[in-house]
Amino acid sequence: MKTELERYTVEQVVDGFIYNELEGKGLFGLAGKLVIQPEFQRHYIYNDGKKDVAVIDSLLKGYPLGLIYFNVEGSTLEVLDGQQRITSIGRFVTGKFAIRVDGKEQTFLSLPKEKQRKILDSALLVYECEGEEAEIKDWFRTINISGIPLNPQELLNAIYSGPFVNKAKVEFSNSQNANMQKWSAYIKGDPKRQEVLAVALDWVSGARGMNVDAYLAHHRGDADIFELKAYFTSVIDWIGSIFRRPPDKEMRGIEWGRLYETYHSTPYNAAVLDGEIERLLGDPAVANRKGIYEFLLSGETQPQLLSIRLFDEKTRAVAYQQQTHNAKSKGVSNCSVCAAGDNANRTRIYRRDEMDADHVTAWSKGGATDIHNCEMLCITHNRSKGNR
Ligand SMILES: [Zn+2]
Repeated sequence: MKTELERYTVEQVVDGFIYNELEGKGLFGLAGKLVIQPEFQRHYIYNDGKKDVAVIDSLLKGYPLGLIYFNVEGSTLEVLDGQQRITSIGRFVTGKFAIRVDGKEQTFLSLPKEKQRKILDSALLVYECEGEEAEIKDWFRTINISGIPLNPQELLNAIYSGPFVNKAKVEFSNSQNANMQKWSAYIKGDPKRQEVLAVALDWVSGARGMNVDAYLAHHRGDADIFELKAYFTSVIDWIGSIFRRPPDKEMRGIEWGRLYETYHSTPYNAAVLDGEIERLLGDPAVANRKGIYEFLLSGETQPQLLSIRLFDEKTRAVAYQQQTHNAKSKGVSNCSVCAAGDNANRTRIYRRDEMDADHVTAWSKGGATDIHNCEMLCITHNRSKGNR
């Protein structure tokens, strides 16, 4: 890989700058030679009135903006890193936002001439890099350290840029997509930061026994996203067909792809499932409410998915006191299992910290987590019974 350090002025870089308001991205610079938003870059996210303003402040104060990286593609240059900074400068110079200078809101054109000059003459240091794709890819991972780092999916989009990623972004990264609201009931994340696309890719690649990297490498040149879209729709439709009550917030971010693969050929009674969800969501003993869905899909065989809450301290203390009082008056152990045995422990009175609480009727058999279903056992017997 060949790299060269170049020095441009702001004036050169923003020559011919165009900002696409609709798509929220800067397009070109260096009189058309520079592609600011190549297809693999992400949306412009500095327009928050803070990061964009900070970029201009830095120029006015003469602070360096940090290194910028371009990729040499024949006679054009593409911004690899620095897109957000360049777009902020371009937007300011073309009058898209104002900053506060000397207590006054100022656009570029209302600034005193010498301040305008200072901005235009500011130097931008740029590494221009030319090489094999694999090298650029490695390098791009390494330089992704400034500003708001690319998240893993944004990086993958950069690495596997091409027709497939472009089509996939149109479908899954567009917050205006009419389906987005329905999807967001089950998927957590910001479509603009490629987090919905990441889930869609995770599901389909998981079903094909691949990781997302391999899946993208394999489909990179595809002209359509038929399989990705069809599989995603199957999973979403499956969730909606078996869980029919209005989605609750616990459904967001569950590993639905894995659940679909494991359970989609099992028949379920949707009305029964809905009733069970209602009941479990209302059960204070269920500590992991997200686990309710898999617990039900798996036929209620894995109560550990729900992380059932143990008895609270007060309940334990009351149970201990009652049991110990009764045991002392009968001259037996305050552990009922010990009391029924035939060794020296049958009359042993355990201290509070030598005992633990147990469900008399197991939670999984419908036993409540309250004082009426709580029995203190010595630690040995509690463990041997299984602490549920
Ligand atoms: Zn015991």
